Amino acid sequence: MNTINHMSHEIKNMNNMGSQHEHHDHEELFNSAWAESQENFLVKGLKTGKRIEDLLPNLPGFNDAFSKVSLLDCPGCRFECSDGRVKSGGPKVALAGEGILLDDADRKILIEALRGKNLPITGHESCGAVKMAHPEDANSDKYGYKGAEELAAETGNKYEAIDHGKFRSQVHDERALVVEGTLKFNCSDWTEFPPQFLSSAAALGLSDAYPAKEVKALAGIALGDHGFGGRFDSNNPFYIIVSAKDSEQLGRLLEIGRAAVKDFGDRAKVDGFVAPVKE
Ligand SMILES: [Zn+2]
Repeated sequence: MNTINHMSHEIKNMNNMGSQHEHHDHEELFNSAWAESQENFLVKGLKTGKRIEDLLPNLPGFNDAFSKVSLLDCPGCRFECSDGRVKSGGPKVALAGEGILLDDADRKILIEALRGKNLPITGHESCGAVKMAHPEDANSDKYGYKGAEELAAETGNKYEAIDHGKFRSQVHDERALVVEGTLKFNCSDWTEFPPQFLSSAAALGLSDAYPAKEVKALAGIALGDHGFGGRFDSNNPFYIIVSAKDSEQLGRLLEIGRAAVKDFGDRAKVDGFVAPVKE
C-alpha cells in the first residue's frame, strides 16, 4: 500500500470509529440520564400509582413554581421550542418549533400574545418539529431559524439562535410533557421537576385542535428513537402532565391528551392538576 492510500485508509477507519464512538457516547448519555431521572421524586411517586395532584405539592419548590402574573410579563421570559433540551434561562413559554406547525388562525392568536413583550424568541439546532414541517429537506433547521426570526420581527421581539452547545442536555432526556393551561407555571425553572417538553398552546388560547397535534408530535419524539424510546413501558410510562387553571380546563385538556397518545398504549400516561393560580 502506498503512503497516500494508506493514509486515506486510516482516515476512513478513523471516521468509522468516530461514528461508532458518537453512537456509543449517546447510548451512555441516555443510560445515565435515564438512571438519574429514575431517582426523581415525582417519577418515583408516579410509579407507585399516586396521582399528580397528591404528589406535586410535596415536591420541593412547588410554591415558587407558580407566578402571580403571566410568564410573558416576567423578567427574563423566553419564547422557545417545546424541546426540553432548549432551556436558555428564565421562565419559558413554548410551542413546538416556535409555532411552525400552526395554522393561520392560531398563528394570529400567537402573534397577538407575543406582541411587544420585549422577550427573546429562539430558534434552535436539530428541531424535531421543524423536521416534521419540512420532511423533504435534510437540512430543515434553516426553516426553524427563519420562522423564529420572522416571528420576532413581526411581534417586536428579539431573535436568538441556539446551537447544540447551548443545550441543557445533549440528548432528549424528557420524562414528561407539560400541557400548560395557565401561562403561570414555571416548570422549566423548577430544578426538582423531571426534564420535560412544554406545550403552552392552551395557555396562549390556541384552538383545541392544535394541542392535540402538538402532544402527539412531542410524545412521538420521547417515545421514539430520538428520545428514551424503548425505556418507556407500562411500569415506566412517559407522562403527559396537564397544568390547568380550573377543573373545566383540566377535564378538557386531559381528554385532548388521552386521545392524542392513544396509539402509544400504556407507554404514555395522562394526568393533571388544577394549578394554584388566580385569573
Ligand atoms: Zn424544536
